[in-house]
Amino acid sequence: MATGIESELNALSIESLSFPHEKCKNIAEWHTQLDSLNPKPEFDYKLVKTMVFKPKAPKSETAPLIVLIALEDSQTSSATICKAVSVKEARLANEDAVTGALSVSTANVSPFSITSANAAAVKVVLDKSLLDYTGKLGVHPNDSAQTIFLSQLDLQKYLLKTEVEILEVDFKSEVYSATSSSAAGGSKSDAKGTPVQQKQSEKIEGAALIGITVDKEIDFPGWYQQVLTKGDMLDYYDVSGCYILKPWSYTVWERIQKWFDAKIKGIGVENCYFPMFVSSKVLEREKDHIEGFAPEVAWVTRAGSAELDEPIAIRPTSETVMYPYYAKWIRSHRDLPLRLNQWNSVVRWEFKHPQPFLRTREFLWQEGHTAHLTFDGANQEVLQILDFYAGVYEQLLAVPVIKGKKTDKERFAGGLFTTTCEGYIPTTGRGIQGATSHCLGQNFSKMFGITVEDPSAKEGEEKEKIFVWQNSWGLSTRVIGVMVMIHGDNKGLVLPPRVAGHQVVIVPCGITTKTSDSNREVLYRDITDIANKLTDAGIRVKADLRDSYSPGYKFNDWELKGVPLRLEYGPQDAKKRQVLSARRDTGDKAPISLDNLVESVQKLLEAIQLDMYQKAKQSFDANIETITDWSDFVPALNKKKVILMPFCLEESCEDDIKERSKRTELGEAEDAKAPSMGAKSLCRPFDQPKGIVLGHTKCLACGKDAKEYCLFGRSY
Ligand SMILES: [Zn+2]
Repeated sequence: MATGIESELNALSIESLSFPHEKCKNIAEWHTQLDSLNPKPEFDYKLVKTMVFKPKAPKSETAPLIVLIALEDSQTSSATICKAVSVKEARLANEDAVTGALSVSTANVSPFSITSANAAAVKVVLDKSLLDYTGKLGVHPNDSAQTIFLSQLDLQKYLLKTEVEILEVDFKSEVYSATSSSAAGGSKSDAKGTPVQQKQSEKIEGAALIGITVDKEIDFPGWYQQVLTKGDMLDYYDVSGCYILKPWSYTVWERIQKWFDAKIKGIGVENCYFPMFVSSKVLEREKDHIEGFAPEVAWVTRAGSAELDEPIAIRPTSETVMYPYYAKWIRSHRDLPLRLNQWNSVVRWEFKHPQPFLRTREFLWQEGHTAHLTFDGANQEVLQILDFYAGVYEQLLAVPVIKGKKTDKERFAGGLFTTTCEGYIPTTGRGIQGATSHCLGQNFSKMFGITVEDPSAKEGEEKEKIFVWQNSWGLSTRVIGVMVMIHGDNKGLVLPPRVAGHQVVIVPCGITTKTSDSNREVLYRDITDIANKLTDAGIRVKADLRDSYSPGYKFNDWELKGVPLRLEYGPQDAKKRQVLSARRDTGDKAPISLDNLVESVQKLLEAIQLDMYQKAKQSFDANIETITDWSDFVPALNKKKVILMPFCLEESCEDDIKERSKRTELGEAEDAKAPSMGAKSLCRPFDQPKGIVLGHTKCLACGKDAKEYCLFGRSY
């Protein structure tokens, strides 16, 4: 039994320590056992008590059992437990009930007795003190002759994985309120209905599942991790820097793919697939290019137990993989333009701190590689693709970006110039490169011998060889991380309607134990009708008819996942022929008449999409500071701004700016993870502020002549 649980924990990347001992019947015996071990656990820990209650319910109903999971020393009154799960009365479940629901005996029951297979048959009441405890938690792995120690976060992770309904309860404050009411002279039953008691029960009814427990503004990295895992976007994996994209995030990627794929096909790009392996000879063909990637290239050196004669690289990008074949396939100017794209993954074995979506060792992207007869043809396409990238951000993800060119220092290794769309994360004040579209010039075509005869040569003249002009452009799953960071809040994800897996969720409300089966059926049938109507109009809608969950749980669940619009429907709404709508982005609630439901919902979704963009745009605009004096540079950075300033465009000056903005006293508002990070150039915006007089305006950093305004910032 125990080993099964340990392997399950391993699969969740949960670290645990295991101690076998004699069987024990209660907490006191358990402590005695652990204390007698040699070696015994030498860290701070508390034991976890797990108790199973059965609600007193009419015989017709099989109400879920209640599993209490609490710290050993928490005072957990059954009255509080009952209030938390909204039942009148509950008693300790007998052996048959426990074995029936959880397949273990009462003596061996533990949080690990809950699995995804039996999760629907139970509800968990989770002690808030346990969540606040920073030491290790001791748990029996369904066997009282063993103890596993793990952190509260990992215990939560396990429970969340089972998808059991969890109610977090603050037993301490309940104890406090009971004490104060008895101090006022009343017995417990007398105290019923007093204001104190009333307030308390409201609080507990509102105590919902475990949502986001860290504040976005206070602990941004912790928030980001929680919002992704609890919002069901991804899971951690046992190879560092790699993550699992779960359906909820993959569907966002699919929406992006669909939109972008149609755009590029519209200009004549075709999809294809090249192998992920590349020989070192080919990879190293273009020197500047490979220098840019060399430290991050992953190599296959062995097959089974045999060393390969020559190691084979895994593509970090496919320029050198594809271009030998371009040389073979492009025979004349009539083969141009050649425009190919791959939807694939690439591997860059980074050693910097990995971050889900933003910096991962393998990531999904598209890489377009095209060849043109002229510079103009290539140049036009580079900008067209950049517009599509900006479209992904602004039109789909409701994320504003600034389009521009990279400085020479920041451009793609081996290319002619790089265009980019740059985003901004207000919470950390850091810029983020959104997607890049590169003009490679003729550098690669010269290296790989991709030529055609000059079609403009006159009859009889010798036809000169022309090296083709090339582009490459890529957009990765990083876009999803940017979207999450910008729109998410302390309740979880906030998804823009155009990419959300479900745009609308309908939750039945007002069903109580008194509701008759037939009334419930009518309500569910209405909801199914509403959902069908919306689906027929092309809206992605989910009717949440899960029986074992309360409306409050469902509200929290869908808020955590960021569904843009919630519709509530109950008997009262049925009478008024309406639904009650609640927006995820603003929390605004309003009734919608069933008579023009489809049109109203469509309008509302569009409004949410636009409002999310406007909000993010205002925040970006408000945080771009145009400076006229170098002394304002570092203070502006420390106020989490990005900076526009006249710049000489010289690489040495850019290096200098990075150094000078590093050596700074730490502002309080700075990101603790990157306190001394210097600023780099983000882009030379296409949309230039007026005011640079060539030969007159000076670079604020070095005093030489300024060429353009350049956007600087700390960045991801
Ligand atoms: Zn300068």
